[in-house]
Amino acid sequence: MQVFFSETQLRHAPHEFLVRGRWQPCPEKPERATALKAALDAAGHEVREPVRGPDAAIAAIHDARYLAFLEKGHARWRELPGASDLIVPNIHPTRRAAAYPESVVGQAGYHMMDTACPIGAESWPAIRASADAAIAAAELVKAGTRAAYALCRPPGHHAYADMAGGFCYLNNSAIAAQILRGKYDRVAVIDVDLHHGNGTQGIFYARGDVLTVSVHAEPANFYPFFWGYADETGEGAGKGANLNLPLPLGSGDDDFLAALDVGLRKVRDFGAEAIVVALGLDAFQGDPFAGLKVTEGGFNRIAARLGKLDLPSVLVQEGGYLCPELGRNLVAFLEGFNA
Ligand code: ZN
Repeated sequence: MQVFFSETQLRHAPHEFLVRGRWQPCPEKPERATALKAALDAAGHEVREPVRGPDAAIAAIHDARYLAFLEKGHARWRELPGASDLIVPNIHPTRRAAAYPESVVGQAGYHMMDTACPIGAESWPAIRASADAAIAAAELVKAGTRAAYALCRPPGHHAYADMAGGFCYLNNSAIAAQILRGKYDRVAVIDVDLHHGNGTQGIFYARGDVLTVSVHAEPANFYPFFWGYADETGEGAGKGANLNLPLPLGSGDDDFLAALDVGLRKVRDFGAEAIVVALGLDAFQGDPFAGLKVTEGGFNRIAARLGKLDLPSVLVQEGGYLCPELGRNLVAFLEGFNA
C-alpha cells in the first residue's frame, strides 16, 4: 500500500506529560513512528514523503485562532518570565466560557483540553507534517487510488476544531474526510483506536454528510471520559450520523469484531461512498495503555472487514504505543485490509 510519512514529524518530542498529578515520560514519542516505518519498510510498502498540502485543507476543519495559537503560541509562551520549554495549560474555561483572552496562558487553557498535548519549540512543523501525510493520502485516494495509508504522528482524533487534547493537535482523520467530501457526497470515519475519537465526533457532530463511528473502551472509566457514550448520536442535521460502540475494559477480538460489525452495517445503511479509517493500534493486548485485548490476528480480521466494504479508503494512523509488536500489528492490519 502507498504510505506517506515525513521525517519532519519526528521533531515533535515532548519529554513529559502529567498523569495522575505526576510528570511522566510522554508515550507519544517519535520512536513510535520510527518503529512503524521500519516495519513498513521490511514488509515492502513504498513510503513517500508528502508534499506540503494546501493550508485550506486544514482551515476547512480548524479554527483560525487555534491554528495561530499552534503555530505561534510557543514563541509567545517562551517570552513569559520563568516559562517552561513546553506549553502546558494550567487554567481552563469552565464549560467553554465565551471570552477569548489575549494572554497566551489563557489561550493555552482555551485551546488545550488537557495536559496530554504539550507544545514544544519543534512541535508545529511536526504537527503540520503529520497533517500533510493525511492530506497526501486523501488526495491520492480522491484521484482514484483505492487505498492509501498516512503514517500520521502526532495523532489527531482527539483534536477538535479549536482544541488539542490527548497527544492530538490537528485532526488528520477529519482533514482527510473533508478532502474526500470534495468528491464523494457521503463519507464515513470509522475509528478503531482504543480511545473514543471525541475530536472527530465533535467536528462532524452537527453534519449529516460525514458519518462518525467509533469502537473503543467505555469512557466511564477511561480517557476521554466525557465523550464516547452510546447515547451521543449527533445533533441537528447530524442527528443519527454518529455511532459510539463502547466496549467493557478488557474486551478481546470477538467483542471488538461484533461491535465493528454493528458499525459497518451503519456505514452501509448510511450509503458511504468513501471511508477514513482512524487506525489506532492501542486496542492491542500488549499496548501500554492496557484497555482492550485485541490480538495481532484480531487486527488482521478487523482490517479484512473494513477492506471488504470495497470503498475508496484513507487509513490514518492514530494511537498505538511502543511495545515489541507495534510494527507487526500495523503490517498485519494492512495485509488484512488488502486481502
Ligand atoms: Zn488511543
